[in-house]
Amino acid sequence: MSKAAEKKTKNPAKDAGQVPTPPVEVVGGELCPFCNEKALTLTEKEMDIAYFGKAYLFAMHCSKCNYHKADVEPIEKHEPCKYTLDITSEEDLKIRVVKSSTATIKIPYIADITPGPDAQGYVTNVEGIINRIKHQVEVLKETEDDDEAKQKAKNLLKKIGKVLWGQEKIKMILSDPDGDSAIISEKVVKGKL
Ligand SMILES: [Zn+2]
Repeated sequence: MSKAAEKKTKNPAKDAGQVPTPPVEVVGGELCPFCNEKALTLTEKEMDIAYFGKAYLFAMHCSKCNYHKADVEPIEKHEPCKYTLDITSEEDLKIRVVKSSTATIKIPYIADITPGPDAQGYVTNVEGIINRIKHQVEVLKETEDDDEAKQKAKNLLKKIGKVLWGQEKIKMILSDPDGDSAIISEKVVKGKL
């Protein structure tokens, strides 16, 4: 094993985004259950996630009505768990997060991501989670008529910007009753759910 590779396996946070891309299975032209057009594309791939194990990643996307559903399912079952992470530097933004559709992510003073039929599952990192929230707040800022709500969204975007620059310390709490999710880092605190 080369020195660089050795270093990589020791620090899971550094692995984020560096997993080789396995073959993706794609089936197109399926019937969309929402608009009844044959415009649904299904994709499936297997991913080997360091310090977590293999997982299947599924996605459905309809090019007609834009219906989108994605989820992640680990091959090996994990214990239901609660993960608490202190995000204190820009480096922490690279920490890998496996989030299935059954997970709840709470970021106090910023936002919560809740489970449900419309919830998506994905493998990302802390930055990816924050960017998703940022996007939602941006949409809210643009579509909101109420001045006070608009201002609130603006303030929140400022705060999120600081987090993304590593200038604001926040907590991220992930829980999943199915045990299909995880925050993968040596500094994460694991607790019982
Ligand atoms: Zn559709």
